[in-house]
Amino acid sequence: MFCLVKRVCEIPPRVLQFKMCRRRDLNTNLSYTVLRHCWMKSLPVFSSTSFRRSSTQASKDAVDLSKFPVDRIRNFCIIAHIDHGKSTLADRLLEMTGAIAKNEKNKQVLDKLQVERERGITVKAQTASLFYSHEGQEYLLNLIDTPGHVDFSYEVSRSLSACQGVLLIVDANQGIQAQTVANFYLAFEAQLAIIPVINKIDLKNADPERVESQIVKVFDIPGEECIRISAKLGTNVEKVLQAVVERIPPPVGSVDEPFKALVFDSNFDHYRGVVANIAVFGGRVKKGDKITSAYLGKTYEVNELGLLRPDEHPTQKLFSGQVGYVIAGMKDVKEAQIGDTLYLQDHPVEALPGFKPAKAMVFAGMYPMDQSEYPGLRSAIERLTLNDSSVAVQRDSSLALGAGWRLGFLGLLHMEVFNQRLEQEYNASVIVTAPTVPYKAVLSSAKLIKEHGSEEITIVNPAQFPEKSVVSEYLEPMVLGTILAPDIYTGKIMGLCMNRRAVQKNIVYIDDQRVMMKFLFPLNEVVVDFYDLLKSLSSGYASFDYENAGYQAADLIRMDILLNGRPVEELTTIVHRSRGYSSGKSMCERLKDTIPRQMFEIAVQAAIGNKVIARETIKAYRKNVLAKCYGGDITRKMKLLKKQAEGKKKMRRIGNVDVPKDVFINVLKTKEK
Ligand code: GDP
Ligand code: MG
Repeated sequence: MFCLVKRVCEIPPRVLQFKMCRRRDLNTNLSYTVLRHCWMKSLPVFSSTSFRRSSTQASKDAVDLSKFPVDRIRNFCIIAHIDHGKSTLADRLLEMTGAIAKNEKNKQVLDKLQVERERGITVKAQTASLFYSHEGQEYLLNLIDTPGHVDFSYEVSRSLSACQGVLLIVDANQGIQAQTVANFYLAFEAQLAIIPVINKIDLKNADPERVESQIVKVFDIPGEECIRISAKLGTNVEKVLQAVVERIPPPVGSVDEPFKALVFDSNFDHYRGVVANIAVFGGRVKKGDKITSAYLGKTYEVNELGLLRPDEHPTQKLFSGQVGYVIAGMKDVKEAQIGDTLYLQDHPVEALPGFKPAKAMVFAGMYPMDQSEYPGLRSAIERLTLNDSSVAVQRDSSLALGAGWRLGFLGLLHMEVFNQRLEQEYNASVIVTAPTVPYKAVLSSAKLIKEHGSEEITIVNPAQFPEKSVVSEYLEPMVLGTILAPDIYTGKIMGLCMNRRAVQKNIVYIDDQRVMMKFLFPLNEVVVDFYDLLKSLSSGYASFDYENAGYQAADLIRMDILLNGRPVEELTTIVHRSRGYSSGKSMCERLKDTIPRQMFEIAVQAAIGNKVIARETIKAYRKNVLAKCYGGDITRKMKLLKKQAEGKKKMRRIGNVDVPKDVFINVLKTKEK
């Protein structure tokens, strides 16, 4: 089954793409109040530093890119399982080619977002152009560092569709993991040249021999093609650069064709408008050119263009096969769609195919804390989704929460990261409802079918779950999950999977100790805490990845949660009937642990239809903490009151109960008891 025939010479030439994102708005010395004001009003922001910065940059020595015809260009991305060393290898490649100064402090320099730094993971693919001399010739290498987690695979697939080759990194200690397999297939299906790299050979427990034989067995790649490196120490990294030039084919396209470029990423800058990252598929473009967007038919003048190294590096022109950024006075986020084609106004071309939209796996409602923040939040969401095009956005409104949105994400981590970026980069605070997977219902009522215009409807909001009486069948989304683990854990893993309503599809040994298992899972069984449980029962050795596997009929019911008798819309979920009782019970228990005690008793109940199936009680405070503060304790009293008021701002009031706004996600994330 793993017999794959792959040869570099068979790879059809393609043109690259690149991506990067920037947070220039937060790098300026503008006061937060000014930024927030402009952001609320959607005004462009101007700052003296920003101007100084662009103009000094523009006057810097611009590289003459005409020196790099397509046969001197290589476009590749680095793919791997999470933590196998992609970003560290990118650091070394940047250092060796002089893009950044050598410094021991260089650690994952391409992970620029605050959320990436805090979590130590890459969530956004990043581009860097490198100059490299090989056998007397100067080459322009465009590298993309990609995220490894399954929730960000859209970044990987977009990057891949733009490159001619990949570096597939495998940890010499851990060997092939679930995302290694998933990423390999993405690259293989895109018919890219694959250079296997075994990293971390400096580790005491490294076993490159074993990893090499896994690569031969699982991917059918000859062992001698593997390069053994230590990205941390820089051992053999030079060989990687040589292999990039020798084994990856150049892009196609000629400078004599009319200019044609694909917008593969974009990002909104408060004072310069849209910064579009483009891959040039033919011809050339220069400052002052009039370019047209195929998507909107609007024409703009090119104000600035250049390379990403990884910071913006202005140049005079960009030529076929090259990758860079362009700023052309697009002021509205809708003007720079990812997948759009740009061409010269006088030479229209046929639009490039663009990208397939990402398929959302989890949906959640997002609402402003206060309806007056709605316009500001709308603009923040628009700008952030410009930088993360895998998020699906739909307007939504609810009686309890007012106007808001229903957003679709590729997974729970993706949703958390999006939420964190909203807070950190846009200072937007939101209420997020309990996430749900997209269920479907086949309607039986002729009236409803007419209303919806089709027999089958997708339910992304549990509050809109249609009743059984008008439905002939409910369907739930399925995924094909891949688990790789040492064989001693096989029994335990199977137990966990069976408990999650999984059906085993396949099991193979990838070497004498490790097994690869495939299971068909209902998506909602793996989306929340499955991976955590899998990790803990395998002492961290198992890895997991999944892909879409269509829909299957399922017996579904709607479960409501009541606080002191009032239904909480954010916590309504759709569950499988067989799990109704257990999930109701554990939800109540977890809410009991997450909602802070208040001055009165709170009843937490789970209900299916009108029937309460579980109940927990949150006891009242025994004493009023303020009651003790009399007389001289006035400052303490003030402090406590202030603290309480601050805390309340982050609360949502349901009936008379104050609920912290992150309870709605946290309650699902906490492990089941
Ligand atoms: P990514 O998730 O694939 O981008 O992985 P990172 O580059 O963030 O690296 C994950 C961890 O592995 C970091 O703590 C790195 O310092 C460490 N690491 C990366 N390459 C090496 C290596 O060659 N040797 C050792 N010992 N550690 C490495
Ligand atoms: Mg990384």
